[in-house]
Amino acid sequence: MTDFTYAVDADGVATITWDLPGKSMNVLSLEGLRELNDHIDTALADDAVKGVIITSGKKDFAGGMDLNVIAKMKEAAGDNPAKGLFEGVMQMHAVLRKIERAGMDPKTLKGGKPVAAALPGTALGIGLEIPLACHRIFAADNPKAKIGLPEIMVGIFPGAGGTTRLARKLGAMAAAPLLLEGKQNDPKKAKAAGVINEVVPADELLAAAKAWVLSATDADLVKPWDAKGYKMPGGAPYTPQGFMTFLGASAMVHGKTMGVYPAAKALLSAVYEGALVPFDTALRVEARWFTHVLMNPSSGAMIRSLFINKEALEKGANRPEAPDQTVKKVGVIGAGMMGAGIAYVSANAGIEVVLIDATHEAADRGKAHSEGILDKGMKRGRVTAEKKAEVLGRITATTDYAALAGCDLIVEAVFEDPKVKAEVTAKVEAAVGPDCIFATNTSTLPISDLAKASTRPDQFIGIHFFSPVDKMLLVEIIKGRETGDRAVAKALDYVRQIRKTPIVVNDARFFYANRCIIPYINEGMRLVGEGTNPVLVENAARLVGMPLGPLQLVDETSLDLGAKIAKATKAAMGDAYPDGAVDDIVFWMVDQGRLGRKAKAGFYAYDEAGKRTGIWPGLADRFPRAEDQPELTEVQHRLLFVQVLEAVRALEAGVLTDIREGDVGAILGWGFAPWSGGPFSWLDIIGAARAVEICDRLAAAHGERFAAPALLREMAAKGDSFYGRFGPEAKAA
Ligand code: NAD
Repeated sequence: MTDFTYAVDADGVATITWDLPGKSMNVLSLEGLRELNDHIDTALADDAVKGVIITSGKKDFAGGMDLNVIAKMKEAAGDNPAKGLFEGVMQMHAVLRKIERAGMDPKTLKGGKPVAAALPGTALGIGLEIPLACHRIFAADNPKAKIGLPEIMVGIFPGAGGTTRLARKLGAMAAAPLLLEGKQNDPKKAKAAGVINEVVPADELLAAAKAWVLSATDADLVKPWDAKGYKMPGGAPYTPQGFMTFLGASAMVHGKTMGVYPAAKALLSAVYEGALVPFDTALRVEARWFTHVLMNPSSGAMIRSLFINKEALEKGANRPEAPDQTVKKVGVIGAGMMGAGIAYVSANAGIEVVLIDATHEAADRGKAHSEGILDKGMKRGRVTAEKKAEVLGRITATTDYAALAGCDLIVEAVFEDPKVKAEVTAKVEAAVGPDCIFATNTSTLPISDLAKASTRPDQFIGIHFFSPVDKMLLVEIIKGRETGDRAVAKALDYVRQIRKTPIVVNDARFFYANRCIIPYINEGMRLVGEGTNPVLVENAARLVGMPLGPLQLVDETSLDLGAKIAKATKAAMGDAYPDGAVDDIVFWMVDQGRLGRKAKAGFYAYDEAGKRTGIWPGLADRFPRAEDQPELTEVQHRLLFVQVLEAVRALEAGVLTDIREGDVGAILGWGFAPWSGGPFSWLDIIGAARAVEICDRLAAAHGERFAAPALLREMAAKGDSFYGRFGPEAKAA
């Protein structure tokens, strides 16, 4: 395989072109790194070569590192994976440092060969770390290109010098959003941020880079940190200004991550410690922290769920065989909160939308929701007036079902009432062609029951969005008993069009996401009912990586919705209903008018502007705090185990058929502790045996809801892991 090609032109400029055969995007493998190294050696050794351009033969420069590299490095040193990683990372540093020094005399800093990076499009991760080692970075004026270091989003950090170079180039403060939040910019913004040097028209990219290479002087090649008297912009840690930055950054990182993301802390340590030592030592420091992060099981689990598995699901890992089902015209019935959002994301993806409600006013209000989102985008400079007109032009707001003619997909989002839904189903089926797929956005009603109102239940399916629709990335697709393959393929193709991540589950009470999240909320309220300090409950959740504590979450989703769901569940389950203790609290709160954030009164107190001001003091009058408060870990175990045990039960019952969907769905659907990689990844990290031990203890102390499912017990006995037993490799074997 040849990942990089090498050519020297008549003017003595060598061009190293990255172009992975048979792939649409370049990623760096160990073989690729060796090739790049060899080409650099050739260029530096050849007296006829005056300078080098590193570019790409594709429309983008590179998407990042081939993720197998990490596994290969770990294996390289046999039973000492940390050594293999550290040495592998140091090899990358050596290649990039060679580019940066480019043969110059280390004392006089003279005699090096200029190396320019020419980026035709997106340059992410190692795809930016290589350019950062070059002497000048040119990018084509391509507004679609993304330039950045997104590693932190999958639980690692830029470990090929990107951290050290960017912090030294921009200063810790300016580099923080790029490193700690993985912020990606288009070329113009990347230039404004000081990440790259030049933005030029695409057809002048190579010429501009070449002109610079041929005119560069010795001084142009010396990085600030290699020059005498280098001072870190914004101040190194031991200057008064730098001291404030690092102190603030440390508190900010801890505040944002609650200390559960090892990568953010390690990144900050690498920058801080690196800033105290010379550049080459700083690279070693970065490599040590990078190794430390890669050895933490959280990073592997995050990469697997948030990168590999998420992408596999988006590419249709569980799509049944069926011809292309790209949606051309979608009918959205019900223009309320959900329908309006569904209309927007569909129209924004280029799909024609008919948005129907019972009255013209309601339909128009639904369409106005799109206008509101687009206006906000315009204010931020992300949406043009043409784009706004185009998207709004795709939405027809009406009460007339005849407008649905020609729709190939319907998404129903009317009131959560089986009678209303049945009426709507019949009306829709009378108006659309025989091939149209009908999807319901119900959050609680069984799909198989709703499908009874349909004359073609094989074309009836659940497409469950999360609120707010334009922000939430997950869509849960639910198969009813009779749902056919084409309906599933349609739903998956639609979710791909609107650029969200799908999971496909079987029909059961609350499907998957709500099935796990409701017990979490209930456990939080149960703890309060038992006299646990609500502040302890909320902080325990946040400190284990949940984005919202259970009480805040119920305030957001509203107590009256909770009461409604509780009543319906009780009616359906009869004596088996397990949550009587929780209902005491929910119904009492509703009686007090404390419906949550929308009422500016819930478990939290709110000010006039709707901002939380702390736990509502009246709560303690009705549910006095017990003298003995539980241990933090005990509360955390209760809050996590009610969720993960429900996920295991969903797998056991065949609601989930793929643990990848269970993990990705949990993180994207309800924010389940992303550092863990999801419920199944977390159970694999602690091990089934330890999980069962905790379950036994919790069940004895707090009840049967913590009883270990038979599957988990069996796995503990056999020493199985979820990914070992149910992962894609195991399935393929
Ligand atoms: P909503 O009350 O905001 O909107 C419902 C809309 O349907 C209203 O505009 C109403 O006028 C319209 N409607 C009612 N009967 C109709 C009929 N016969 N014909 C045409 N339009 C009719 O409710 P929502 O929150 O948007 O929820 C809609 C559906 O989505 C429900 O099934 C709900 O369970 C589900 N859902 C809600 C959420 C959420 O967070 N709110 C999340 C996922 C799914």
